[in-house]
Amino acid sequence: MRWSFTIARVAGTEVKVHVTFLLLVAYIAYEGWVMAGSVAAISYTLFFLAFFLCIVLHEFGHIAMARRFGVRTPDVILLPIGGVARLERIPDVPRQEFLIALAGPAVTLAIIVVLAVAVAVSGHPLGYAPNPVALDVPITSRLLSANAVVLLFNLIPAFPLDGGRVLRAVLARRMGLARGTRIAGGVGQLFALGLGIVGFLMPAPLILLVAFFIFLGAGSEANAVATRLAGQGLQVSHMMVKEFHTVPIHAPLQQAVDLLLAGEQREFPVVDNLGRAEGMLTRDNLIRGLSRLGPTATVAEAMTAAAPTVPPTLGFQDALERLRSSGLPALAVVDGGGTLVGLLTRDNITDLLLVRSARRN
Ligand SMILES: [Zn+2]
Repeated sequence: MRWSFTIARVAGTEVKVHVTFLLLVAYIAYEGWVMAGSVAAISYTLFFLAFFLCIVLHEFGHIAMARRFGVRTPDVILLPIGGVARLERIPDVPRQEFLIALAGPAVTLAIIVVLAVAVAVSGHPLGYAPNPVALDVPITSRLLSANAVVLLFNLIPAFPLDGGRVLRAVLARRMGLARGTRIAGGVGQLFALGLGIVGFLMPAPLILLVAFFIFLGAGSEANAVATRLAGQGLQVSHMMVKEFHTVPIHAPLQQAVDLLLAGEQREFPVVDNLGRAEGMLTRDNLIRGLSRLGPTATVAEAMTAAAPTVPPTLGFQDALERLRSSGLPALAVVDGGGTLVGLLTRDNITDLLLVRSARRN
């Protein structure tokens, strides 16, 4: 997700913070400062850092359970509505998704129990502390209440909340992943719409923001599953471009410029004398090379040298992931003998999926 920053790396998972989460913390510190000066600002911030830690622990509940089923989690992003652990894939067995979705709330429940014991031991009442930043209420009581809200909120059956995943897993068991996701996504968006109306009427900007994120999350989850299902059974050889130009590694940039302007191709595999892939010359590489080195510089000086390649037998989902993580708009397809056989581009994949879904309807 754009506008997020990595703040830590735990057991192979990057912990990222979205800029809107930081804005929320800043807003809360500012509120404290306006209402009761710097002591309150510090107390507010401390509370939120502790709360933030509880949310990270919740997410690592999901991550640890996913790991038990062999699913890695490259990153977890903290948003104003809480954390989103981005699993590498959704487990195919609905029961596994069900357990992964419930593992987070289970951690939150454990935190609640620990805090409740701490509050009881300290002799304070166990009631709900509605103001998370009241300075005369101990931080344990306030964290207890905040975590209770997190628990209840996450059990609402709307994507990308945990309750939405539980709902999807239950539906998928009966009607398959495609329909289950569509219905769970629809329920999530309907809920977000209702919440948005409430936020608008109150008016409460925070509730509006939460509604907005749930709406987006529900939509993108449904899209991701639709893409995955549309590509089922496909491999790289089905979706690669077979007619394309290459550029020799020692050619001047001008030669690539001529090719770029003469046709629709924007990324050129760079080959050596024997036709083996040595790198990729993207349009960005070309433009930057031209302005920095001039048209007589060689392709070798401007190309992306360490560009990964993919085998023609690689499956759809892996190919998509490889393309995404490379950051390049295209990858060279190289067979087992080292021969360049195709070009995998984002545009071509999009076209193919459009054609496939049009045929199906
Ligand atoms: Zn969760």
